[in-house]
Amino acid sequence: MSGEFDKKAYSKKVYDSRKEIGLCTRCGKENDNFPLLTCKNCSEKRKHQRQQVKNYYENHGLCNICGKEKMENSKFCFRCWETMYDAKQKRREKMTAEEKESERVKANSRNRERKKKALENGICYYCLKRKALEGRRECLDCLAKIQKESARRMQEKKVIRDNKREYRLKNNLCTRCGESAKEGYKVCERHYLISFENQKKVKRGKEKTNG
Ligand SMILES: [Zn+2]
Ligand SMILES: [Zn+2]
Ligand SMILES: [Zn+2]
Ligand SMILES: [Zn+2]
Repeated sequence: MSGEFDKKAYSKKVYDSRKEIGLCTRCGKENDNFPLLTCKNCSEKRKHQRQQVKNYYENHGLCNICGKEKMENSKFCFRCWETMYDAKQKRREKMTAEEKESERVKANSRNRERKKKALENGICYYCLKRKALEGRRECLDCLAKIQKESARRMQEKKVIRDNKREYRLKNNLCTRCGESAKEGYKVCERHYLISFENQKKVKRGKEKTNG
């Protein structure tokens, strides 16, 4: 034996013996916090320490759990997030339908509460982080994102519409409903009649305003 003091083994021994007698494993005093292994005082201290560490990480833009580099738009790194996500999924698997429903309701009301508070305090309704623009619910960043997204969706819809029209034209189908088109027309009999009626109405309308 080297005779060197093994600190780790020693604290493990202390820990085990305290645990066995039912004392706080941290300070060795009476444990008033059963079934937890540390007394109320120590638990409180630890909680406070953890909160401070978490605040430090958050203020420095690091993962709130491990203090490593975090993902964008998240408080966590991918690994920690994944671990949490897995645990959550496992918990959900065990839940009954009613428990799931009540969980969903709770999350919804929490969300509503947060959004309401944000609105009241002039904070962005979407990210709940940045200041909202004057007279709007969104911050500049979110507004830009929303506008970009809606433009993209409009464009997507237009492409689908154009493609559909082209397909129908090529295959002699009514451009309005996709039924077979009337000979020499872009629309079916029904839609031909509808537009014919509409044109008559427009003409009559013009005549009236002229006369
Ligand atoms: Zn203690
Ligand atoms: Zn992490
Ligand atoms: Zn925002
Ligand atoms: Zn048609």
